[in-house]
Amino acid sequence: MIKFENISKTYKTKTSVIQALTDVSAVIDAGEIYGVIGLNGAGKSTMIKILTGILKQDKGKVFINGLEPSAKEKYRRQYCVTYQNFGLDMHLSVRSNLELHGMLFGLGKFELKKRVNDVLSRFDLEQYENSRTNELSGGYRKRVQIARNFMLDVPVLIFDEPTVGLDPIIKNSFLSDIKSYAKKGCTIVITTQVLEEAEKLCDKIAVLHKGKILDVNTPQIFKSKYSKQNQAILYTGQIDDALILEVQKRLDKETDSFTSDKFCITITSTNDTAYLLELVNKISSSIKIRINSVEIKNSSLEDVFVSIAKED
Ligand code: ADP
Repeated sequence: MIKFENISKTYKTKTSVIQALTDVSAVIDAGEIYGVIGLNGAGKSTMIKILTGILKQDKGKVFINGLEPSAKEKYRRQYCVTYQNFGLDMHLSVRSNLELHGMLFGLGKFELKKRVNDVLSRFDLEQYENSRTNELSGGYRKRVQIARNFMLDVPVLIFDEPTVGLDPIIKNSFLSDIKSYAKKGCTIVITTQVLEEAEKLCDKIAVLHKGKILDVNTPQIFKSKYSKQNQAILYTGQIDDALILEVQKRLDKETDSFTSDKFCITITSTNDTAYLLELVNKISSSIKIRINSVEIKNSSLEDVFVSIAKED
């Protein structure tokens, strides 16, 4: 379990003081995939650096499984991390980077070789195992960083914007690896600007904006809470004007609108999904209309985030 308790952090430069985080709190349970989404400069990397103990907060406390960063080696053994821009020794080969990482965690010779070979193959890196890391493209360096995270059995895996630069095949396999590690009880923290990814992957999403967590929720709740426009699409048997009139009577003029053709009615509402489901129920139980299927559509998480950020 991870706990952030009222974390604040400012950066002081010669010319300015930047408040990067203000009173950030979070509880992340074992086996949970926790996404932190936010625009550039929101404070995501600062949050990760404080979690990994490489940066000290001005105020507040952070714990992994009850330990604080001051527990040093014990704390360090709780997690593996992929930072955005660093973490590999550029002068070492890909294999050596992986071996070094395993050795630092105390893996024995046999186990080390087995695990290095396993991730080299899983991340399609075998052909580059003897290349120096600085000879690789950005996408391949990212692969090495991610492969390294999956080499060890640690309770917490942390990824700071991990999918930037990954090709779609490796990206998908990475996302499914994350899910299976979480199923085994591993706690995952992932920062991203790719909202669709967060939506598919995460159990909870925290919106970080200008150093503050504005909201934490499941992707589904986010959408129904903040979506400005939800839709219910009713695929029907043939409908005529009289039926359409009956449907129209049951809508709320203030919040709902609709379009229709012969076999489909689309109701658009500023109300939430629950309201739409109830409305569909009301229509189907009070009008002689054949409804073959119903599709509920929320606006995307992207719309949600833009609207939360605007409200600030
Ligand atoms: P994100 O990862 O969401 O892009 P960061 O945590 O990197 O956000 O940055 C949060 C804020 O802190 C930004 O305004 C950024 O410019 C500032 N910042 C980050 N690192 C430093 C630093 N080392 N010195 C001064 N300001 C910094």
